[in-house]
Amino acid sequence: MICHMSFLYTKILVCLSKKYSEKGGTHLDTSDDTLIATMLAAQCTDAAVLKAMPGLRRKFPDWKSLAVARIEDIAKTIRTLNLYKTKARAVKETAIRIQDVYAGCVPRTMQDLITLRGVGRKTASVVLSACFHIPAIAIDTHVQRIVCRLGWTKKKKPIDIEKDLMKFIPKKYWSTINSALVPFGRDICKARKPECYRCPIAAQCPYSPKTVLS
Ligand code: SF4
Repeated sequence: MICHMSFLYTKILVCLSKKYSEKGGTHLDTSDDTLIATMLAAQCTDAAVLKAMPGLRRKFPDWKSLAVARIEDIAKTIRTLNLYKTKARAVKETAIRIQDVYAGCVPRTMQDLITLRGVGRKTASVVLSACFHIPAIAIDTHVQRIVCRLGWTKKKKPIDIEKDLMKFIPKKYWSTINSALVPFGRDICKARKPECYRCPIAAQCPYSPKTVLS
């Protein structure tokens, strides 16, 4: 049974991954930028974060400069983003820890990453996958919604969903879950009204009732 489900889920992921391979991702160059951008992403669009990043990095090009900066000065460079004051504090505290504990380098394990201020399992998984090519499942709102609709889990908490997915999806596809489902969620399997009538995996989805073109 697990084998059959594993095959089916993987097939769906590969199908979506092919469709969205050009559209997904924020294409940041370094692990530093990826970590900071992911930390800044809460309640903001990718476009808003990517617009704010150059200003922040021009003023504070490395962890050292962020670690000694005043929180207010970091906040000024990202003031277009929601929760910018909280995020500025988190970025500074993360910079201090990376400087003091990790010799100025973003750590490469889930255990270490989640000790950084403002970094939860989702952000850590994004960094592991995108920067270090270490398989990890980043459960965000899109992934959570879609895997529930697909019937891949009945769990509600991200950590429980992550564990369920780990049982059925081969490790080499863990990172594909986020990179394929996030663009799919934005394009077709939307939160308020999924567009099931143009969904490439509708035949494999038990969601009911499926939406029709009106
Ligand atoms: S059929 Fe509808 S609910 Fe199911 S995955 Fe496709 S868009 Fe989402």
